Amino acid sequence: MPHFSSSFSAKDIVEKVRQAGIVGAGGGGFPAHVKLDASVDFFIANAAECEPLLCKDQQLMELHAQRMVHGLRLGMKATGASRGIVAIKKKYKRAIAQLEKYVSGNIDFYLYDNFYPAGDEFIIVYDVLGRLIPPGGIPLDVGCVVNNVETLINISCAMEDVPVTHSALTIAGAVHEPLSVVAPLGTSLRELLALAGGATVEDPVFLDGGAMMGKALDDLDAPVTKTSAGYIVIPREHHLYRRKTRSDEANVHISRSACDQCSYCTELCPRYLLGYAIEPHAVMRSVGFEGDKEAHWARLGLLCCECGICDLYACPEDLPVKDMQIRSKAIWNARGWPKEHLIGLDRVHPMRDSRRVPIPRLIQRLGLTDWDVTAPMTTKVLEPMNVQLMLKQHAGAPAVPIVGEGEVVKVGQLVAAIPDGQLGANIHASIDGYVARIDDNSIWLTR
Ligand code: SF4
Ligand code: SF4
Repeated sequence: MPHFSSSFSAKDIVEKVRQAGIVGAGGGGFPAHVKLDASVDFFIANAAECEPLLCKDQQLMELHAQRMVHGLRLGMKATGASRGIVAIKKKYKRAIAQLEKYVSGNIDFYLYDNFYPAGDEFIIVYDVLGRLIPPGGIPLDVGCVVNNVETLINISCAMEDVPVTHSALTIAGAVHEPLSVVAPLGTSLRELLALAGGATVEDPVFLDGGAMMGKALDDLDAPVTKTSAGYIVIPREHHLYRRKTRSDEANVHISRSACDQCSYCTELCPRYLLGYAIEPHAVMRSVGFEGDKEAHWARLGLLCCECGICDLYACPEDLPVKDMQIRSKAIWNARGWPKEHLIGLDRVHPMRDSRRVPIPRLIQRLGLTDWDVTAPMTTKVLEPMNVQLMLKQHAGAPAVPIVGEGEVVKVGQLVAAIPDGQLGANIHASIDGYVARIDDNSIWLTR
């Protein structure tokens, strides 16, 4: 059993996390050192992984429970939090059994039922603490920091000066061997697909980040980044691929012509149910107007977290409701209108609990039932010959290369640094090799 020291000061922890290039691995990619450089009462470990078919966090917790809890304790120390909470689904029994060995004292569990979404910060903070983050705010506004499983494990590793060089992810869907893996950053999707035994369909495409919040992708050369959570392989003709690749113009046209204003999208929107001023059906109505009238209704999409419940689950007409919320945000941003005074907090909806979306029903609605199987963490090792390290795989400014072409590098060596005075994250080599190429977006390494 390794011994994890917690003798570092709050300042040391923040600096080691900054050096290690740790970002929010849950999707946002927000630099972790900035989150930790705060003072809060509560620290939540977001272990509520809920994207259908993706399960890498569950596997990480089973394998690295001690490291995760160590990372949580370090986060609590850095922020001065007096209480830590592991928010996890009840059904992750094996992970809970491992975590129970280390969760004690001022850390406890919050056990979730199997709903989607659970990991949105507004939702998790309310469920765990009963506190509502102000509209447009962050957990810090209510005395809290939220980090996900992999981020906490990375924080623990950073105390031993081990930087982020790999990312854990699941490869699920139409593959011969669904699995989870810890892949070197910059590994291509082509190599991940091969590791999973190849596709079981003729013309495979991918949902990068999951079926609900992920993006459609058909580029086998796309690289793994620090925020990669997983890929669902589906045939090109699958409705999810068609939906996620439809043009903006077609989406607007469909939204104008087919919405009957039934408002199911609003009635099931998790942020609406929390009492926020968000009404996706009103945004759908806005699409029929122009100018100020459109913007007036479009404001009711500003608090959308892009969970996808409105269009992939609620809407009986199968309309692109989420896309219209994203469009509404763009309208407001383009106009530069202030948002704060327009979005008020109402009360949590009395029917909230009964309107949450059970994941098995969601999987059925998405047409993913045939692929709803476990994707265990593989013991196979990925050793790509080449990796493409993106200079921007985090929130903030792209990292600046500090190596030159032809230079020999070792795993864990710093190859690109946070630009002076800006928000960002360091990037480290993920394989031993040499720098084959550098361009505006990436550093390529060859073994
Ligand atoms: S659920 Fe669909 S049809 Fe009903 S209001 Fe929303 S977008 Fe329109
Ligand atoms: S994607 Fe739809 S359901 Fe989800 S927060 Fe946005 S409007 Fe609400």
